[in-house]
Amino acid sequence: MEFDTRSTHDQDFRVRAGQDGRVALVLVVEDERDIREVLRRYLEREAHGVLTCGTGAEGLRLLREADPDLVLLDLGLPDIDGLEILDAATATHTPVIALTARAAVENRIEGLQRGADDYVTKPFSPKEVVLRVAAVLGRRATPAAAGPLTYGGGRLWIDADRHEVQVGGRLVALTPSEWGILVALASRPGRVYSRLELVNRVRGYAYEGYERTIDSHVKNLRHKLDDPEIVETVVGVGYRLGLDRDS
Ligand code: CA
Repeated sequence: MEFDTRSTHDQDFRVRAGQDGRVALVLVVEDERDIREVLRRYLEREAHGVLTCGTGAEGLRLLREADPDLVLLDLGLPDIDGLEILDAATATHTPVIALTARAAVENRIEGLQRGADDYVTKPFSPKEVVLRVAAVLGRRATPAAAGPLTYGGGRLWIDADRHEVQVGGRLVALTPSEWGILVALASRPGRVYSRLELVNRVRGYAYEGYERTIDSHVKNLRHKLDDPEIVETVVGVGYRLGLDRDS
């Protein structure tokens, strides 16, 4: 079997939106490269965006900077205790599936007590891991709102099921990047997203230079939305949705 030997930094991840229009970004922290790459392959096949790293230090950094939707975490890492990453992830309410060779019942219990959503003991089948990822993401997903979400008293209308956006009743056609940016901003109205976070949401990984193109995507998105209050610039920080979600 052959594995991709490029580092994560060289890769241009193409992230497709899931069925609900949302990009699921999965961070794999695992020091065994073969396992890492098998997981990547299986996860990408399910249209997840995938970030991988082989050390705990990089795992902590990516957890902070990339804000993943789920972490697959090897508890036996070369540099730091995997439980440290588990704590950092649960502190930000990021679901974790722990991967470990430690089959002992007490380790399993400790992991679950410290906030892991699920637990897989090596050797595992990658297919099983992918199914568990889907189950955890499904459990964490907000209950499917029947129909579209609206913002600002109906000014903005997003139907993730149908992949449609309307502004003031006018249907707006967006590119996948523009859609990804808008859906990311709308997932938490008012929260400021940095360019790096938006790149991660849209592309799965910030390869060098791409951050700047976020600005041009936002410019085009604004032009299409034709309502300057929907996407606000926060100077020196990033962008945010300027409308509240209608209840
Ligand atoms: Ca390990």
